[in-house]
Amino acid sequence: MLKQRTLKTLTRAVGVGLHSGQRVELTLRPAAPDTGIVFRRVDLAQPVDIPVTAQSVTDTRMATTIANGGAKVHTIEHLMSACSGLGLDNLYVDITAEEVPILDGSSSSFVFLLQSAGIELQNAPKRFIRMLQPVEIREGEGDNLKWARLEPYHGYKLRFEIDFAHRVVDATGQRYEFDLGQGNYSRDIARARTFGFTKDVEMLRANGLGLGAGLDNAVVMDDWRVLNADGLRYDDELVKHKILDAMGDLYVVGKPLLAAYSAFRSGHAMNNKLLRALLAQPDSYEIVSFEDDKQAPAGFALPARAW
Ligand SMILES: [Zn+2]
Repeated sequence: MLKQRTLKTLTRAVGVGLHSGQRVELTLRPAAPDTGIVFRRVDLAQPVDIPVTAQSVTDTRMATTIANGGAKVHTIEHLMSACSGLGLDNLYVDITAEEVPILDGSSSSFVFLLQSAGIELQNAPKRFIRMLQPVEIREGEGDNLKWARLEPYHGYKLRFEIDFAHRVVDATGQRYEFDLGQGNYSRDIARARTFGFTKDVEMLRANGLGLGAGLDNAVVMDDWRVLNADGLRYDDELVKHKILDAMGDLYVVGKPLLAAYSAFRSGHAMNNKLLRALLAQPDSYEIVSFEDDKQAPAGFALPARAW
């Protein structure tokens, strides 16, 4: 049987929020089978649990935010991406502020934390959402066109295309495809950092956002070049970060997808709309588990390995 996974033990991280600039502590703890991923605001007088579901996503403007009543957590997508990449099903995330720490702007610090704590196999079948029919969201026309799509596939692969009229993007890659069955999430995707342009950073700051952003947690570009002294981590780091984000955005659905995702200029908002469209069409998917590990698609059968 292909089993659910949680952590062997708890692990902690301290950092600052990308937008709030606030110091925040994170404690990642094992959770029982079928718990899913649950954030807990432990700084509130009465701690509030916020289970991660497609419906608990309330804001997708600059990052993915979840809420339960008045309690919120912003910028969950990089941690969710690491959970998706390592196949973690059940986890408690205790947090002492409104925003997940940005750490180095990628998900590699989360991958390191989760792998240091160790992955525990649980005695319950891992359940997947298997696509039966394509689901698509399409918006705008011409230069404003963007779309995202999920199609049936025995495995999990993501193809993303960005379209920035910028020298750095032109010189590197505008598109990338990652297949969990062939690639290695920790190596190929996790190190790709958040990116932004200096003019956007100024605008964000004027609106009280991006207060924790800087060259140590984001790729920052002016009109001509990358400002980080060490340059890029991958030649195509920007489009790879969009795949990292999409994996986090899609994992809020609560189960791993067996699907081919493809997208053109999509983002947090459109990725969430795609999930809601999927859930609104019950004949477009089914829930499956694998009695025999060998029947499971490549990339899902083995517990995540150390890098
Ligand atoms: Zn991101």
